[in-house]
Amino acid sequence: MRHCSDASYVWNLALEQRNSWRRGRSQKITAHSQMIDLAEARKLTWLKEGSSAIQQQALRDLDRAFWNWWKRPDHFGRPTWRKKDINEGFAIRDLSVRRLNRKWDQVLVPKCGWVKFRVTREWRDIETASSARVTLDRSGRWFVSFTRRAPQIERKLTGAVVGIDMGVTHTVATSKGKFLDMPKLLSKGERQRKRRLQRKLARQHKGSNRRNKTKFAIAKLSVKEVDRRKDWIEWTTTNLVRNYDLIVLEDLKVKNMTRSAKGTVENPGKNVAQKSGLKRSILEQGWGMFHRRLTDKAINAITPVEIIAINPAYTSLRCSKCGHTEQKNRKSQAIFCCQACGYTDNADVNAAKNIIAAGLAVQGRGGTSHAAPNQVKHSDPVKRQPAEAA
Ligand SMILES: [Zn+2]
Repeated sequence: MRHCSDASYVWNLALEQRNSWRRGRSQKITAHSQMIDLAEARKLTWLKEGSSAIQQQALRDLDRAFWNWWKRPDHFGRPTWRKKDINEGFAIRDLSVRRLNRKWDQVLVPKCGWVKFRVTREWRDIETASSARVTLDRSGRWFVSFTRRAPQIERKLTGAVVGIDMGVTHTVATSKGKFLDMPKLLSKGERQRKRRLQRKLARQHKGSNRRNKTKFAIAKLSVKEVDRRKDWIEWTTTNLVRNYDLIVLEDLKVKNMTRSAKGTVENPGKNVAQKSGLKRSILEQGWGMFHRRLTDKAINAITPVEIIAINPAYTSLRCSKCGHTEQKNRKSQAIFCCQACGYTDNADVNAAKNIIAAGLAVQGRGGTSHAAPNQVKHSDPVKRQPAEAA
Protein backbone atom coordinates (compact mmCIF):
# COMPACT_ATOMS: atom_id res chain seq x y z
CA MET A 1 0.00 0.00 0.00
CA ARG A 2 2.75 2.36 1.05
CA HIS A 3 4.69 1.42 -2.08
CA CYS A 4 1.77 2.44 -4.27
CA SER A 5 1.51 5.93 -2.86
CA ASP A 6 5.28 6.37 -3.00
CA ALA A 7 5.45 5.24 -6.59
CA SER A 8 2.65 7.51 -7.75
CA TYR A 9 4.00 10.43 -5.72
CA VAL A 10 7.40 10.11 -7.37
CA TRP A 11 5.81 9.57 -10.77
CA ASN A 12 3.64 12.69 -10.48
CA LEU A 13 6.49 14.81 -9.15
CA ALA A 14 8.79 13.68 -11.92
CA LEU A 15 6.07 14.22 -14.51
CA GLU A 16 5.56 17.75 -13.25
CA GLN A 17 9.27 18.37 -13.53
CA ARG A 18 9.23 17.15 -17.10
CA ASN A 19 6.10 19.07 -18.03
CA SER A 20 7.43 22.34 -16.66
CA TRP A 21 10.75 21.95 -18.41
CA ARG A 22 11.45 23.60 -21.77
CA ARG A 23 11.10 27.17 -20.55
CA GLY A 24 14.61 28.56 -20.51
CA ARG A 25 16.29 25.54 -18.99
CA SER A 26 19.45 24.36 -20.61
CA GLN A 27 19.87 21.12 -18.73
CA LYS A 28 17.94 18.21 -20.01
CA ILE A 29 15.80 16.13 -17.72
CA THR A 30 16.55 12.45 -17.97
CA ALA A 31 15.88 9.43 -15.86
CA HIS A 32 19.43 9.87 -14.60
CA SER A 33 19.08 13.50 -13.55
CA GLN A 34 15.82 12.68 -11.84
CA MET A 35 17.47 9.82 -9.96
CA ILE A 36 19.94 12.30 -8.51
CA ASP A 37 17.08 14.60 -7.53
CA LEU A 38 15.34 11.68 -5.93
CA ALA A 39 18.41 10.82 -3.87
CA GLU A 40 18.50 14.43 -2.65
CA ALA A 41 14.81 14.35 -1.81
CA ARG A 42 15.19 11.10 0.08
CA LYS A 43 17.70 12.72 2.41
CA LEU A 44 15.25 15.42 3.38
CA THR A 45 11.74 14.01 3.30
CA TRP A 46 9.56 11.16 4.40
CA LEU A 47 10.38 9.44 1.12
CA LYS A 48 13.39 7.91 2.87
CA GLU A 49 11.11 5.63 4.83
CA GLY A 50 9.95 3.96 1.62
CA SER A 51 11.91 1.65 -0.63
CA SER A 52 14.38 3.40 -2.90
CA ALA A 53 14.23 0.58 -5.43
CA ILE A 54 10.53 1.14 -5.93
CA GLN A 55 10.81 4.91 -6.12
CA GLN A 56 13.60 4.63 -8.68
CA GLN A 57 11.61 2.19 -10.71
CA ALA A 58 8.78 4.73 -10.91
CA LEU A 59 11.23 7.14 -12.56
CA ARG A 60 12.37 4.49 -15.02
CA ASP A 61 8.77 3.67 -15.86
CA LEU A 62 8.03 7.33 -16.52
CA ASP A 63 11.09 7.59 -18.73
CA ARG A 64 9.93 4.54 -20.68
CA ALA A 65 6.45 6.02 -21.00
CA PHE A 66 7.88 9.22 -22.48
CA TRP A 67 10.06 7.27 -24.88
CA ASN A 68 7.11 5.28 -26.10
CA TRP A 69 5.13 8.44 -26.58
CA TRP A 70 7.89 10.19 -28.58
CA LYS A 71 8.49 7.21 -30.78
CA ARG A 72 4.90 6.27 -31.51
CA PRO A 73 2.55 9.13 -30.57
CA ASP A 74 -0.29 7.49 -32.50
CA HIS A 75 -0.05 4.40 -30.38
CA PHE A 76 0.92 5.59 -26.94
CA GLY A 77 -0.62 8.62 -25.27
CA ARG A 78 1.29 11.27 -23.37
CA PRO A 79 2.08 10.08 -19.84
CA THR A 80 -0.68 11.18 -17.49
CA TRP A 81 -1.09 11.75 -13.80
CA ARG A 82 -1.35 8.79 -11.50
CA LYS A 83 -4.61 9.07 -9.63
CA LYS A 84 -5.41 7.80 -6.19
CA ASP A 85 -7.59 4.66 -6.09
CA ILE A 86 -7.39 4.29 -9.85
CA ASN A 87 -3.76 3.82 -10.81
CA GLU A 88 -2.49 2.08 -7.72
CA GLY A 89 0.56 -0.03 -8.32
CA PHE A 90 4.32 -0.26 -8.41
CA ALA A 91 6.99 -2.14 -10.27
CA ILE A 92 9.67 -4.46 -8.97
CA ARG A 93 12.99 -4.96 -10.69
CA ASP A 94 15.61 -7.56 -9.81
CA LEU A 95 12.89 -10.03 -9.34
CA SER A 96 13.06 -13.09 -7.15
CA VAL A 97 10.24 -15.56 -7.14
CA ARG A 98 9.90 -18.72 -5.11
CA ARG A 99 7.68 -21.67 -5.73
CA LEU A 100 5.58 -22.88 -2.82
CA ASN A 101 3.33 -25.48 -4.38
CA ARG A 102 1.23 -26.02 -7.46
CA LYS A 103 -1.05 -23.09 -6.75
CA TRP A 104 0.96 -20.65 -4.68
CA ASP A 105 4.17 -18.74 -5.24
CA GLN A 106 6.06 -16.09 -3.37
CA VAL A 107 7.58 -12.92 -4.68
CA LEU A 108 10.12 -10.78 -2.84
CA VAL A 109 8.77 -7.27 -2.37
CA PRO A 110 11.32 -4.71 -1.15
CA LYS A 111 10.82 -3.80 2.50
CA CYS A 112 7.87 -6.20 2.78
CA GLY A 113 9.60 -9.52 2.47
CA TRP A 114 8.13 -12.52 0.77
CA VAL A 115 4.54 -12.11 -0.36
CA LYS A 116 2.43 -15.07 -1.30
CA PHE A 117 0.38 -15.00 -4.47
CA ARG A 118 -1.93 -17.36 -6.28
CA VAL A 119 -0.71 -18.61 -9.65
CA THR A 120 -3.28 -18.03 -12.37
CA ARG A 121 -1.12 -18.40 -15.48
CA GLU A 122 1.27 -20.96 -16.84
CA TRP A 123 4.42 -20.85 -14.75
CA ARG A 124 6.98 -21.91 -17.32
CA ASP A 125 8.13 -18.50 -18.51
CA ILE A 126 8.27 -16.69 -15.22
CA GLU A 127 11.94 -17.54 -14.77
CA THR A 128 12.69 -15.50 -17.85
CA ALA A 129 10.73 -12.51 -16.60
CA SER A 130 12.94 -9.73 -15.34
CA SER A 131 10.44 -7.48 -13.65
CA ALA A 132 6.96 -7.54 -12.24
CA ARG A 133 4.19 -5.07 -11.60
CA VAL A 134 2.05 -5.20 -8.52
CA THR A 135 -1.30 -3.49 -8.87
CA LEU A 136 -4.35 -2.88 -6.78
CA ASP A 137 -7.63 -2.53 -8.62
CA ARG A 138 -10.64 -0.55 -7.53
CA SER A 139 -12.35 -3.56 -6.02
CA GLY A 140 -9.43 -4.20 -3.71
CA ARG A 141 -7.80 -7.10 -5.55
CA TRP A 142 -4.01 -7.24 -5.69
CA PHE A 143 -2.30 -8.56 -8.79
CA VAL A 144 1.25 -9.50 -9.62
CA SER A 145 1.96 -9.50 -13.31
CA PHE A 146 5.23 -10.50 -14.90
CA THR A 147 6.72 -8.86 -17.92
CA ARG A 148 7.57 -10.96 -20.88
CA ARG A 149 7.12 -10.84 -24.60
CA ALA A 150 3.59 -11.41 -25.81
CA PRO A 151 3.21 -14.84 -27.35
CA GLN A 152 2.94 -14.90 -31.11
CA ILE A 153 -0.26 -16.13 -32.63
CA GLU A 154 0.33 -19.21 -34.72
CA ARG A 155 -1.42 -19.11 -38.04
CA LYS A 156 -1.19 -20.22 -41.64
CA LEU A 157 -2.03 -18.25 -44.77
CA THR A 158 -5.75 -18.54 -45.31
CA GLY A 159 -6.18 -16.35 -48.37
CA ALA A 160 -9.21 -14.79 -46.74
CA VAL A 161 -9.82 -11.07 -46.38
CA VAL A 162 -12.36 -9.19 -44.37
CA GLY A 163 -13.70 -5.68 -43.85
CA ILE A 164 -14.88 -4.57 -40.47
CA ASP A 165 -17.43 -1.94 -39.50
CA MET A 166 -17.69 -0.92 -35.87
CA GLY A 167 -20.96 0.52 -34.78
CA VAL A 168 -23.53 1.19 -32.14
CA THR A 169 -26.08 -1.56 -32.82
CA HIS A 170 -23.49 -4.19 -33.67
CA THR A 171 -20.07 -3.92 -32.12
CA VAL A 172 -18.53 -5.42 -35.23
CA ALA A 173 -20.10 -6.24 -38.60
CA THR A 174 -17.97 -8.08 -41.15
CA SER A 175 -18.11 -7.93 -44.93
CA LYS A 176 -19.03 -11.63 -44.84
CA GLY A 177 -22.32 -10.64 -43.26
CA LYS A 178 -21.46 -11.79 -39.77
CA PHE A 179 -21.98 -9.88 -36.56
CA LEU A 180 -19.59 -10.09 -33.68
CA ASP A 181 -21.45 -8.55 -30.80
CA MET A 182 -20.03 -7.86 -27.43
CA PRO A 183 -22.26 -9.69 -24.98
CA LYS A 184 -24.03 -7.84 -22.21
CA LEU A 185 -21.29 -7.26 -19.70
CA LEU A 186 -23.42 -7.73 -16.62
CA SER A 187 -26.24 -10.19 -16.03
CA LYS A 188 -29.73 -8.86 -15.40
CA GLY A 189 -29.38 -9.28 -11.66
CA GLU A 190 -26.01 -7.54 -11.62
CA ARG A 191 -27.38 -4.62 -13.64
CA GLN A 192 -30.28 -4.18 -11.24
CA ARG A 193 -27.91 -4.36 -8.32
CA LYS A 194 -25.66 -1.72 -9.85
CA ARG A 195 -28.58 0.64 -10.45
CA ARG A 196 -29.79 0.15 -6.90
CA LEU A 197 -26.34 0.86 -5.51
CA GLN A 198 -25.98 3.98 -7.64
CA ARG A 199 -29.29 5.33 -6.32
CA LYS A 200 -28.15 4.54 -2.81
CA LEU A 201 -24.87 6.34 -3.41
CA ALA A 202 -26.67 9.50 -4.45
CA ARG A 203 -28.53 9.59 -1.15
CA GLN A 204 -25.57 8.98 1.13
CA HIS A 205 -23.44 11.65 2.75
CA LYS A 206 -20.08 12.43 1.23
CA GLY A 207 -17.18 10.92 3.12
CA SER A 208 -19.30 8.63 5.24
CA ASN A 209 -18.26 5.06 5.82
CA ARG A 210 -21.48 3.71 4.42
CA ARG A 211 -20.97 5.70 1.25
CA ASN A 212 -17.46 4.34 0.86
CA LYS A 213 -18.85 0.86 1.25
CA THR A 214 -21.37 1.47 -1.52
CA LYS A 215 -18.67 2.95 -3.72
CA PHE A 216 -16.57 -0.13 -3.20
CA ALA A 217 -19.47 -2.42 -4.12
CA ILE A 218 -20.07 -0.44 -7.33
CA ALA A 219 -16.37 -0.61 -8.14
CA LYS A 220 -16.50 -4.38 -7.80
CA LEU A 221 -19.20 -4.56 -10.46
CA SER A 222 -17.40 -2.10 -12.76
CA VAL A 223 -14.25 -4.16 -12.58
CA LYS A 224 -16.27 -7.18 -13.60
CA GLU A 225 -17.52 -5.29 -16.64
CA VAL A 226 -14.03 -4.18 -17.63
CA ASP A 227 -12.68 -7.71 -17.26
CA ARG A 228 -15.42 -9.17 -19.42
CA ARG A 229 -15.00 -6.54 -22.11
CA LYS A 230 -11.27 -7.25 -22.18
CA ASP A 231 -11.89 -11.00 -22.45
CA TRP A 232 -14.25 -10.53 -25.34
CA ILE A 233 -11.85 -8.21 -27.18
CA GLU A 234 -8.94 -10.61 -26.67
CA TRP A 235 -10.93 -13.58 -27.88
CA THR A 236 -12.42 -11.82 -30.91
CA THR A 237 -9.20 -10.18 -32.10
CA THR A 238 -7.28 -13.45 -31.82
CA ASN A 239 -9.87 -15.20 -33.94
CA LEU A 240 -9.81 -12.50 -36.60
CA VAL A 241 -6.03 -12.57 -36.83
CA ARG A 242 -6.06 -16.38 -37.09
CA ASN A 243 -8.61 -16.43 -39.87
CA TYR A 244 -7.70 -13.56 -42.19
CA ASP A 245 -4.63 -12.49 -44.14
CA LEU A 246 -5.93 -8.98 -44.62
CA ILE A 247 -8.18 -7.01 -42.32
CA VAL A 248 -9.50 -3.62 -43.38
CA LEU A 249 -10.89 -1.23 -40.82
CA GLU A 250 -11.96 2.35 -40.54
CA ASP A 251 -9.53 5.00 -39.40
CA LEU A 252 -10.92 5.64 -35.95
CA LYS A 253 -9.50 9.12 -35.61
CA VAL A 254 -11.48 10.27 -38.61
CA LYS A 255 -14.52 8.26 -37.60
CA ASN A 256 -14.71 9.69 -34.12
CA MET A 257 -14.24 13.18 -35.45
CA THR A 258 -17.04 12.96 -37.98
CA ARG A 259 -19.37 11.40 -35.45
CA SER A 260 -20.13 14.58 -33.63
CA ALA A 261 -22.76 14.60 -30.93
CA LYS A 262 -25.24 15.82 -33.48
CA GLY A 263 -24.93 12.56 -35.37
CA THR A 264 -22.71 11.64 -38.25
CA VAL A 265 -21.97 14.03 -41.04
CA GLU A 266 -23.66 11.62 -43.41
CA ASN A 267 -26.48 10.79 -41.11
CA PRO A 268 -27.22 13.85 -39.06
CA GLY A 269 -29.51 13.82 -36.11
CA LYS A 270 -30.10 10.12 -35.76
CA ASN A 271 -29.23 8.36 -32.54
CA VAL A 272 -28.22 11.58 -30.90
CA ALA A 273 -28.92 10.33 -27.42
CA GLN A 274 -27.19 7.03 -28.00
CA LYS A 275 -24.02 8.48 -29.38
CA SER A 276 -23.68 11.35 -26.99
CA GLY A 277 -22.11 11.48 -23.61
CA LEU A 278 -20.81 8.67 -21.54
CA LYS A 279 -22.13 5.80 -23.57
CA ARG A 280 -20.47 7.11 -26.68
CA SER A 281 -17.13 7.60 -25.01
CA ILE A 282 -17.19 4.11 -23.55
CA LEU A 283 -18.04 2.77 -26.97
CA GLU A 284 -15.14 4.64 -28.55
CA GLN A 285 -12.82 3.39 -25.86
CA GLY A 286 -13.86 -0.14 -26.69
CA TRP A 287 -13.25 0.46 -30.39
CA GLY A 288 -9.87 1.93 -29.60
CA MET A 289 -8.84 -1.05 -27.54
CA PHE A 290 -10.15 -3.40 -30.21
CA HIS A 291 -8.03 -1.66 -32.89
CA ARG A 292 -4.92 -1.63 -30.75
CA ARG A 293 -5.13 -5.27 -29.80
CA LEU A 294 -5.91 -6.29 -33.37
CA THR A 295 -2.96 -4.32 -34.76
CA ASP A 296 -0.56 -5.62 -32.12
CA LYS A 297 -1.56 -9.20 -32.71
CA ALA A 298 -1.45 -8.80 -36.49
CA ILE A 299 2.14 -7.51 -36.43
CA ASN A 300 3.14 -10.15 -33.95
CA ALA A 301 1.62 -13.17 -35.66
CA ILE A 302 3.92 -15.91 -37.01
CA THR A 303 2.69 -15.14 -40.53
CA PRO A 304 1.95 -11.42 -40.33
CA VAL A 305 -1.52 -10.18 -41.10
CA GLU A 306 -1.92 -7.00 -43.07
CA ILE A 307 -4.07 -4.30 -41.53
CA ILE A 308 -5.32 -1.36 -43.60
CA ALA A 309 -7.16 1.57 -42.07
CA ILE A 310 -9.27 3.52 -44.54
CA ASN A 311 -11.14 6.79 -44.43
CA PRO A 312 -14.66 5.91 -43.28
CA ALA A 313 -16.41 8.77 -45.09
CA TYR A 314 -19.55 7.65 -46.93
CA THR A 315 -19.01 3.95 -46.27
CA SER A 316 -22.46 3.81 -44.72
CA LEU A 317 -24.21 5.57 -47.62
CA ARG A 318 -22.56 4.03 -50.65
CA CYS A 319 -24.10 0.99 -52.33
CA SER A 320 -21.56 -1.81 -52.17
CA LYS A 321 -22.96 -3.27 -55.39
CA CYS A 322 -23.21 -0.34 -57.80
CA GLY A 323 -21.45 2.45 -55.98
CA HIS A 324 -24.44 4.78 -55.92
CA THR A 325 -24.17 7.13 -52.96
CA GLU A 326 -27.19 8.90 -51.59
CA GLN A 327 -28.64 9.89 -48.26
CA LYS A 328 -31.85 8.02 -49.01
CA ASN A 329 -30.01 4.72 -49.41
CA ARG A 330 -29.96 4.42 -45.69
CA LYS A 331 -33.57 3.49 -44.94
CA SER A 332 -33.02 3.23 -41.22
CA GLN A 333 -30.32 2.51 -38.72
CA ALA A 334 -30.49 -1.16 -39.70
CA ILE A 335 -31.50 -1.34 -43.35
CA PHE A 336 -29.65 -0.27 -46.46
CA CYS A 337 -31.62 -0.09 -49.72
CA CYS A 338 -29.97 1.27 -52.85
CA GLN A 339 -32.12 3.84 -54.66
CA ALA A 340 -30.38 3.10 -57.98
CA CYS A 341 -30.16 -0.70 -58.21
CA GLY A 342 -32.44 -1.88 -55.42
CA TYR A 343 -29.71 -3.79 -53.60
CA THR A 344 -30.79 -4.39 -50.01
CA ASP A 345 -28.63 -5.45 -47.11
CA ASN A 346 -28.04 -4.86 -43.46
CA ALA A 347 -26.65 -1.32 -43.23
CA ASP A 348 -23.58 -2.32 -41.23
CA VAL A 349 -22.74 -5.24 -43.49
CA ASN A 350 -23.04 -2.96 -46.54
CA ALA A 351 -20.63 -0.56 -44.84
CA ALA A 352 -18.21 -3.41 -44.09
CA LYS A 353 -18.32 -4.43 -47.77
CA ASN A 354 -17.43 -0.87 -48.78
CA ILE A 355 -14.60 -0.93 -46.27
CA ILE A 356 -13.07 -4.11 -47.68
CA ALA A 357 -13.43 -2.76 -51.24
CA ALA A 358 -11.66 0.46 -50.27
CA GLY A 359 -8.94 -1.52 -48.52
CA LEU A 360 -8.33 -3.75 -51.53
CA ALA A 361 -8.17 -0.68 -53.74
CA VAL A 362 -5.47 0.78 -51.50
CA GLN A 363 -3.59 -2.50 -51.58
CA GLY A 364 -3.94 -2.72 -55.36
CA ARG A 365 -2.35 0.69 -55.74
CA GLY A 366 0.85 -0.83 -54.48
CA GLY A 367 0.32 -0.48 -50.80
CA THR A 368 2.50 -2.40 -48.44
CA SER A 369 1.34 -5.88 -49.08
CA HIS A 370 3.09 -8.84 -47.59
CA ALA A 371 0.19 -11.21 -47.30
CA ALA A 372 0.18 -13.04 -50.63
CA PRO A 373 -1.98 -10.60 -52.60
CA ASN A 374 -2.77 -13.06 -55.39
CA GLN A 375 -4.42 -15.49 -53.11
CA VAL A 376 -6.24 -12.68 -51.46
CA LYS A 377 -7.83 -11.35 -54.62
CA HIS A 378 -9.20 -14.65 -55.87
CA SER A 379 -11.02 -15.51 -52.76
CA ASP A 380 -13.01 -12.38 -52.35
CA PRO A 381 -16.21 -11.72 -54.24
CA VAL A 382 -16.25 -8.05 -53.32
CA LYS A 383 -13.21 -7.40 -55.47
CA ARG A 384 -15.22 -7.89 -58.63
CA GLN A 385 -17.26 -4.84 -57.90
CA PRO A 386 -16.00 -1.37 -58.68
CA ALA A 387 -13.94 -0.36 -55.73
CA GLU A 388 -13.73 3.32 -55.12
CA ALA A 389 -11.53 4.45 -52.34
CA ALA A 390 -13.02 7.26 -50.36
ZN1 LIG B 1 -26.85 0.09 -55.89
